[in-house]
Amino acid sequence: MKVVFLDRDGVINEFPGNGKYVTKLKEFHFVPGTLDALRILTQEGYSIYIVSNQAGVAKGVYSKQKLEHITRNMLRDVRAMGGRIKKVFYCTHFSHAGCECRKPEIGAIRQAFELANKTIHSAQKAFFVGDTESDILTGHNAGCTTIFVLSGREDRRHMRGWKIKPDYVARDLLEATDIINERNLLRSSQRKRRALTVKSVRRRSNEKAS
Ligand SMILES: [Mg+2]
Ligand SMILES: [Zn+2]
Repeated sequence: MKVVFLDRDGVINEFPGNGKYVTKLKEFHFVPGTLDALRILTQEGYSIYIVSNQAGVAKGVYSKQKLEHITRNMLRDVRAMGGRIKKVFYCTHFSHAGCECRKPEIGAIRQAFELANKTIHSAQKAFFVGDTESDILTGHNAGCTTIFVLSGREDRRHMRGWKIKPDYVARDLLEATDIINERNLLRSSQRKRRALTVKSVRRRSNEKAS
């Protein structure tokens, strides 16, 4: 199962600013290249999930209905460009709520795999792409390969202070997509090489036997 988890603000759409939220459709702007990235990942057979903290709902900055309206439009635009997002997980609780769905907790990731009848161990083959330390921590906590993108809130300077470093740094989601595809090609060639080795070992032992 090929899986990619994506943060939303700062990865898919432009970061709205520190302490700010995307409260209406007018404030939602795709990061350039994102729609292409989502199409490529879809064509490559990835299941794409969004995992996003939206505490602005708990704070009453915008309603759940507004959030759903923004999401519907986002999904429509993604589909129109040939991409497909399997599911969007939002945590709409306060940061102090102690819920399992707020990053860096991994409740959403666990749920995504449960829905696909897989355990959390599958996360080790998955990727997590985000623009903050909290995203990288989330991916790390779940066991994913992590990619930090510079299209959002934090940059390389922030990264110096992080306890957990990302596996990769990319300019944006489009560049992260290249990394994901390359990693997968590498993995499948390693698998092929292993399979060939097993075959030649078998052949050799057969030759010995005869
Ligand atoms: Mg973000
Ligand atoms: Zn929550």
